Amino acid sequence: MAEAARSNVRGTPGAGDVAAADERLRWTSVPRWRAPELPAAASYLACWFGPAGQRRAAALLSAAPPEVPVRTASFAGHWDPAAEAELRRLLAGCLAGVRIILAGPESVVLRAAALARQFGATSEELVLIATEAAGAAEAAEDAGAYVDGRAGRRVFCAACREPFGAVAAMGDVVTCPGCAASLIVDHRFSRRHAAYFGWPTALDLHR
Ligand SMILES: [Zn+2]
Repeated sequence: MAEAARSNVRGTPGAGDVAAADERLRWTSVPRWRAPELPAAASYLACWFGPAGQRRAAALLSAAPPEVPVRTASFAGHWDPAAEAELRRLLAGCLAGVRIILAGPESVVLRAAALARQFGATSEELVLIATEAAGAAEAAEDAGAYVDGRAGRRVFCAACREPFGAVAAMGDVVTCPGCAASLIVDHRFSRRHAAYFGWPTALDLHR
């Protein structure tokens, strides 16, 4: 799974300080969201998180050929252990040729995508839809939109190396519940951890 994920990392953090902070992590730039397109597939697995995700997934699947099997799974709009267990079960049962549609809040979709990559899914097999980026993605087709306002995000604490959930805009300062460090929510993102980089405010190396 690591090789597939690595080969698809676009761009580089461009800062040696990040590599020094953690060589084990690959950081890419902020996730960008484009208007989704339905790829051809032998079958589809559509998992949505919350009603907005369901609407987006249903709209996309309306273009699916009638002979292609579609499995769907509906989850609440947040991450929880029961949802993760069910996702694992669904992902373990995926056959070759499947395309996996994940739609919902960005933080949940990115965690689900990281889980899917653990099960061997490649970027080409994943269709990711962040409901927060809906309008913007269609307005900015080429570059793609990113979720820049206050939103639920996972933040990876660079001090204690644990991810946690927070509601924050990029550039906001949040407090790590594990080690109480004050962290700036950075534009850099780890796909493996499905988390934004939380840079301790006590360090100003990247200023
Ligand atoms: Zn911490």
